[in-house]
Amino acid sequence: MINRPYVALLDDDVALCVFMSKVAQTAGYRTLAAHDGRELATLLAAQPVLLVLDIAMAHMDGLEVIRQLAEARFPGRLVIVSGHSATMLQSAKLLAELQDVRVAGVLTKPIRAESLLALLQAPELRVSTPQVQHEISRADLARGIENNELVLHYQPQVRLTDGAWVGVEALVRWQHPQHGLLYPDAFISLAETSGLALPLTRKVINLALEECTRSSSTLGFTGTLSINLPPVAMTDLTFPETVVAAVAQVGCKPEKIMFEVTETSVPEDPAKAIEILTRLRLKGFALSIDDFGTGHSSLENLQHLPFSELKIDLGFVRAAETDTGSRLIVESSIALGSQLGLKVLAEGVENETLWHWLRAAGCELAQGYFIARPMPLEKIAAWQCEWETRRLALVSVPV
Ligand code: C2E
Ligand code: CA
Ligand code: CA
Repeated sequence: MINRPYVALLDDDVALCVFMSKVAQTAGYRTLAAHDGRELATLLAAQPVLLVLDIAMAHMDGLEVIRQLAEARFPGRLVIVSGHSATMLQSAKLLAELQDVRVAGVLTKPIRAESLLALLQAPELRVSTPQVQHEISRADLARGIENNELVLHYQPQVRLTDGAWVGVEALVRWQHPQHGLLYPDAFISLAETSGLALPLTRKVINLALEECTRSSSTLGFTGTLSINLPPVAMTDLTFPETVVAAVAQVGCKPEKIMFEVTETSVPEDPAKAIEILTRLRLKGFALSIDDFGTGHSSLENLQHLPFSELKIDLGFVRAAETDTGSRLIVESSIALGSQLGLKVLAEGVENETLWHWLRAAGCELAQGYFIARPMPLEKIAAWQCEWETRRLALVSVPV
């Protein structure tokens, strides 16, 4: 019980804090409350996995707290609470997400125990736990990569018109000998700042190619395999050759591999990046622009770089259900992608409402918890059966 994670509450309504503490304790958390924004540092010192924040307090406004969380690179998740309108809550949420503070959800006052409980029991919370609880060293990560402790989970991607399964994204995890299964939040930024991102990427590519070719015959899967590239791959001129060799070794076609790069990984002086991306494209690989909408030079990059797919960031997709601004961003990204001849994929499709809305909006592909969570390859066959039973109902309305 010593390792039970903390939930921190920051709300000037004392009675509400007592109530929310009780709910969080029922869900198995330890709790810590403060009633004034100036006590934020004390709360963060306990390394909470979740911070429940009232955005309208007497002594500090919640937006200021959000900025401080971003500055402190708060690794946990945020729940935004307010008695104000839904629009206010959504703006605060968007603001947090744009600053890379991860939002678990929003709650309107009066708060119901069930709504808070649902957020506290979300599986995503497990993502924050390892990072908060384990100090990972560079040497440990280097050893883990070398000893083949990286494992891949695959998240299916499907076509919105007919529900066909068209691809998977490989997402790395680390089966740590002491800490258990660690998620990317716990080690990707360390890899990127300590020169381990390229060795990690090479392992991921080899593992994904090997697993997917081995199972393609049994699964009958002929779709694309998407692999995430770190920014440093855009500076290594030998990278295209390395992947060509890796692909040739397993006898897979480059056309089946989609490399995902984020907008921000194309640096200020993009000459090298353009050369690498163009070479990858010439070799036949497909390229996807990941987290679209969160970077700065979106339009310029899209015009000049040889991308094949645009992946709308999950922050906008998830918010689209309740927030007009996000809805407009998703709609214009779909229009932009289609006009540029790119495949458009929405990630973060978490429920049926979003599914039908995206389908009607003309989005081509979808990925998200509603379709499937990332899973080990051996679970894909079972998902495929389950998806077959659901998909017909989801595509019965013509678009
Ligand atoms: P990403 O590339 O944007 O990947 C999508 C993340 O969103 C994944 O988290 C996935 O599990 C999660 N996700 C998918 N559908 C939903 C949904 O409907 N709702 C919500 N809330 N989340 C959803 P994951 O696996 O923890 O990966 C986090 C990030 O770590 C990735 O973001 C990517 O930037 C990085 N990453 C993962 N694998 C690799 C890798 O092999 N190499 C590199 N360089 N980075 C990786
Ligand atoms: Ca990705
Ligand atoms: Ca993404």
